[in-house]
Amino acid sequence: MTPNVLFAAPDRLWARYQAPLTRALEEVGVSARLGPDAGPPEDVDYIVYAPHPGLQDFTPFTRAKAVLSLWAGVEKIVGNRTLTMPLARMVDAGLTEGMVEWVTGQVLRHHLGLDHVLSHQSGEWVQNVPPLARWRPVTVLGLGALGAACARALAALNFPVTGWSRTARDIPGIRCLHGEGGLAEALGSGQILVLLLPLTPETDGLLDAARLALLPDGAVVLNPGRGPLIDDAALLAALDAGRLGHATLDVFRTEPLPPSHPFWGHPRVTVSPHVASETRPESAARVIAENIRRGEAGEPFLHLVDRANGY
Ligand code: NAP
Repeated sequence: MTPNVLFAAPDRLWARYQAPLTRALEEVGVSARLGPDAGPPEDVDYIVYAPHPGLQDFTPFTRAKAVLSLWAGVEKIVGNRTLTMPLARMVDAGLTEGMVEWVTGQVLRHHLGLDHVLSHQSGEWVQNVPPLARWRPVTVLGLGALGAACARALAALNFPVTGWSRTARDIPGIRCLHGEGGLAEALGSGQILVLLLPLTPETDGLLDAARLALLPDGAVVLNPGRGPLIDDAALLAALDAGRLGHATLDVFRTEPLPPSHPFWGHPRVTVSPHVASETRPESAARVIAENIRRGEAGEPFLHLVDRANGY
């Protein structure tokens, strides 16, 4: 069998993925017809997908064995009622590596007070030695592919790390809490809070005024997860009141963040334009090729999305 693999993603991506995907399919021994035009929809076996206006209705793909998402976050796809075939999300070593670098860098920036150092270069000799990481507790909400990797990297630097997930996790060196019952303790423990939750009906608006109030005074919020995890107005109120120290936000309810948004230019907010990490074609192509190999061999797909939970 030579499966037909439709690459259905914004145009600019095909040039980046064509060679890695072709190579990765060869490596797993699958000979496929691959491209943005894989023949009539009823002949397509797999859809490599990133949301774009060109493909929203999956109904004509009657033979497709799976939709393989290029992105880790699937909130724009998971509710699509025409997508009835298995949906796999992206778990990519390169994406994870980039996220670990971004989160570690942002945590160290705030922990070491690097902003303060950079803004005090006028000849005044003021010594503020930062505490050791071992005295700076960090909380990571979300202990999945990205959150767990970041938690481990921070723990390896000696930060005491508390993690929070929906179901119970056991990660050596991390204090793992879960469920509604563990949230208040997780929020109360971290001087630096990292949000790496997916956007689902349960996590939408999770960080509202009441939960922000549980963070320690002066806490720093890092959000490389999804914008709607936070109630923007509540966050701004907490920052304006001086209750929270800073928010470094990589993701927003509306992207690009509108120029008039109060986050821009706010003295306690750093706007990062959704660059914390991204799927890396070389490593991601191997994940997609492996799932196509599995589909052809009748083996279970990796990284399937749980539709009921929304991630
Ligand atoms: P993942 O492997 O699916 O992990 C999700 C984690 O969140 C799991 O630990 C899960 O708990 C937890 N969770 C989900 N719903 C929860 C709830 N209601 N209460 C408590 N915990 C809950 O996802 P991932 O690959 O780590 O990615 C996380 C998110 O990062 C993505 O969904 C995406 O939004 C974002 N992202 C951002 C960028 C960027 O550049 N800014 C890039 C890639 C991804 P369980 O462990 O119990 O399942």
